[in-house]
Amino acid sequence: MFEKMTVEDCLNSNREELIEQSLERIRSTDPLIKSFISVAEKVQINDGPYKGIPIAIKDNITTKGLKTTCASKILENYIAPYDATCVKRLKDYGFAIVGKTNMDEFAMGSSTERSAFFTTRNPWNIDCVPGGSSGGSAAAVASGQVIASLGSDTGGSVRQPASFCGVVGFKPTYGLVSRYGLIAFASSLDQVGPITKSVKDAALIMEIIAGKDPFDSTTVSRKVDFLSQIEEGVEKMKFAVPEEVYEYEQLDNEVAERFEEALKTAEKLGASVKRVRIPSMKYAVATYYVIAPAEASSNLARYDGVKYGLRIEETGLKGTYMKTRNVGFGEEVRRRIVLGTFTLSAAYYEAYFNKALKVRRILSSDVNQILDRFDAILTPTSPVPAFKIGSVSDPLTYYLMDIFTVPANLVGIPAISIPFGFARGMPVGLQIMGKRFDDGKVLRIARNFEKRSPYNDNGRIPLPVVRI
Ligand code: GLN
Repeated sequence: MFEKMTVEDCLNSNREELIEQSLERIRSTDPLIKSFISVAEKVQINDGPYKGIPIAIKDNITTKGLKTTCASKILENYIAPYDATCVKRLKDYGFAIVGKTNMDEFAMGSSTERSAFFTTRNPWNIDCVPGGSSGGSAAAVASGQVIASLGSDTGGSVRQPASFCGVVGFKPTYGLVSRYGLIAFASSLDQVGPITKSVKDAALIMEIIAGKDPFDSTTVSRKVDFLSQIEEGVEKMKFAVPEEVYEYEQLDNEVAERFEEALKTAEKLGASVKRVRIPSMKYAVATYYVIAPAEASSNLARYDGVKYGLRIEETGLKGTYMKTRNVGFGEEVRRRIVLGTFTLSAAYYEAYFNKALKVRRILSSDVNQILDRFDAILTPTSPVPAFKIGSVSDPLTYYLMDIFTVPANLVGIPAISIPFGFARGMPVGLQIMGKRFDDGKVLRIARNFEKRSPYNDNGRIPLPVVRI
C-alpha cells in the first residue's frame, strides 16, 4: 500500500506509478489534513537511483520554479530563482518534489497554527495540531501523502512535529547539512533534517543531503556513512537521563510512562541507563528565546517591501517599510522581531543577549561533559502529546513546551525523535541526543529502539488510518 511505503520499499517496487499515487493521495486527503501550501502542477522527473520517489519540502526551503512562502503573507508569491543545496542534492539522486508543506510563519511556532494561511491537522486526530513548525512535513509523511519530507529545526521543529505525528524526525549536527536556500530564522541554530517512516530512511536521506557546500561556510567535510553502521547493536552503551526531565512540572503522566518503557527497552538492548544532572538545562528555554528572536530580528530585516515579496506603498520610504511589515508579518513574527530588537539594543545588550550567549556556553559545556562519559542522552521529545487546535493561547505556554528540544540546537549536537507508543491516544516521541558529529551513532541507537519497540510491528512504526 502506497501510504505505508518507505524509501527502502520504493527501491524494490514499480517506480513508474509512485508520483501519480502520491498526487492521488494528496487529492483525496489534503482537503482534510491540509499539509500542503502548494502542490507542483507538473512534477519534475529526475534521473538517479531514487528516480520517481515522491517527497515534500517545507515551505522555507527554496525550490526553483515552485513558490517558497515561509507561510507568510510577506512572501506569498515569492518564487526563488534557485534550489536550496539539500533540494538540489535530492533531485540529483532522482527524488521528485511533489509540493511544499505548511509551517508556522518563518518557522516560529510549535503547531502550524501560526501559518498565515491555515492550520494543518494531525492525521491521528484531525482536531489536534500536527506540531510545528514543520507540521505540514510531518503530517504529509504520517498520512501517506509522500514517502518522506524535509523540515527545518531551529529549536525542535523537525523533532516535535515528528513526535506529534508518530514519525521519525532527525536534526543533524550543526554544519552537517548546508543551509544554503533555507530561509534564515536563527542562523546559529537552524538545520535542515529529514522526516521519514523509518530510521533507515532518515540515514539514507542524510547521506544524500549532508556534506560540505561552498555556498555555506559553516558546513564541514565529513565522511557520511550512516547506513553501514545503523544495524550494529548497542550492547554496553551508556545512556544518560537528565533528572531535570522528572522535575519538569508539566510533564504528562502518560508521556512519562512511555519514557520509562523506553528506558526498560534500552536495558533489554544491553545498554545501561543512569540518571545525571544538567543544571543549566532549566535555563535552555530562556536562553533560546533571547538568542533565536535576536537573530531573527536581524535576518528578517531584509523583508522591507523593496527587495522581496510584498510591498504596500505609503507616503515616504519609512511609511512603506512600516506598512509592508505590519501587514506582511503575523503577530508571532512581529513579537519576536520586537523582542530581538530590544535585547540587541545598546542599553540591554549586556543584560540579555550577551548573558544568553554566556549561558549557551555553560549549557554546551555541561552537555558535552555528559556526552564525554555517555553514548547518548535520552529524554521525551515533548513533555506533552499533540493538543487540540486552538486550545493554547498564551505564547509562553508554547515556549515552555520546547524544553527538551532546544538544548540540541543551542549546543549544535545531533538529535532524533522516534515514535514510542501513545499518550491520550496520540503518538509520543523518544528523543536521543549524541555528541557533535556522532550522527551515525544516534541513528544507530534509534534503529535499535525501533527494532525492539513493543509498539512497532516487525520494526515498522504504526501509521494512522486517515478517514476521508
Ligand atoms: N518552537 C520553537 C520556536 O517557536 C522552534 C521552532 C523551530 O525549530 N523552527 O521557535
